[in-house]
Amino acid sequence: MFDLTLTFDNGPEPDVTPGVLDTLERHAVKSTFFVLGKKLADPARRKLAERTSAEGHWIGNHTYTHSIPLGESTDPEVAEAELGRTQNLIGGLAHPDRLFRPFGRGGALGAHLLNRRVVDFLVAGRFSCVLWNAIPRDWEDADGWPARAHASCGEQAWTLMVLHDLPTGAMRHLERFIEDVRAAGGRFRQDFPLECLPLLRGEPQPGLQACVSA
Ligand SMILES: [Zn+2]
Repeated sequence: MFDLTLTFDNGPEPDVTPGVLDTLERHAVKSTFFVLGKKLADPARRKLAERTSAEGHWIGNHTYTHSIPLGESTDPEVAEAELGRTQNLIGGLAHPDRLFRPFGRGGALGAHLLNRRVVDFLVAGRFSCVLWNAIPRDWEDADGWPARAHASCGEQAWTLMVLHDLPTGAMRHLERFIEDVRAAGGRFRQDFPLECLPLLRGEPQPGLQACVSA
């Protein structure tokens, strides 16, 4: 037996997100979609986020531009520009725990994820920061990711996985992946392992320091 929490980053995408939602619905899997502010600024994509939320998935903030890991930014306004602006666009679709996932550039964890100012902003806004412990690289290997994803599930009791609702073709394997996870004894859940949350509703957790640049 193992647990798996699926998350989908960088959308919404009109050509991909609806199919992902249909697949999740067919298999009664609830997940979280970490959306980009610049995409939500498009009314058609905002509508997709509304559908996502209405179907029981959670919506999280994944920055506005997704252009630079926040720990590498020297812009004093970066927290407001990347997080605040996106949270405003998410508006009433936000999860009560105000979920935020930093941009890792290639999925890397480390001190490049956040800086002091950004942490202060997250604490003041009572955000929860949601990292990950599996990143099967679906964005660069549209056909090979399921094998790595299954391997990750075998390495830990509870996997928090990053996938992407992006037009790479990778999501054509999602249905089969879900079926194979269930066949292997996996249970899907929507919540997150605590060790992947360096901030919980604004409260610093043990993993926070490792995510903050000097
Ligand atoms: Zn991303």
